[in-house]
Amino acid sequence: MEEDAPTLPGISEGEILVIRSTRRKKSASAYRQGGRIVISLPARMSKAEEAQVVPELIAIIRGREASKTPTEEALSNRIDQLLNELAPEITARPVSVSWRPMRERWGSCTSLDRTIRISDRLKLAPEYALDYVLFHEAIHLEWGDHGAEFTEVLSRFEDSELASAYLDGWEAAERAMLDPVELKKLPK
Ligand SMILES: [Zn+2]
Repeated sequence: MEEDAPTLPGISEGEILVIRSTRRKKSASAYRQGGRIVISLPARMSKAEEAQVVPELIAIIRGREASKTPTEEALSNRIDQLLNELAPEITARPVSVSWRPMRERWGSCTSLDRTIRISDRLKLAPEYALDYVLFHEAIHLEWGDHGAEFTEVLSRFEDSELASAYLDGWEAAERAMLDPVELKKLPK
């Protein structure tokens, strides 16, 4: 299929990918694909129109996402709930739980100052996947490594298989979603 060939070279503004489609006549659309926002415009749209439409679409997507993202306070409350329900023997609670732009990990916990960080890739994750990571990090308040005690407590989380599948799937998709190839020196 040649119709959807991108006419702009890959990611033009951070995580924004603009594609011009000859199939598209009038409407413009935008959607989230992993870490990037993909915007599809009619091939004939003028540069001036593009400059107006693209920021509008980005604002709509980001606004919609922000309204669906749990606040850091909600993350803290959820950890409290999960520990109460599944691991009442753990009485420690995090001092802070924060969203962080982490690409290599889903979450991290520093038991020394009782801080937990959660990857912002989970901002729109289904509840069971986010819960799984929150619970995992919360157990680290008590157990530093992934030893037998840690594993026993984590196994009380019912949807762990489903959650692992979601997280593995995301990582596989991220690996598959390589950045576009770019020529630094164009032939004259
Ligand atoms: Zn861990």
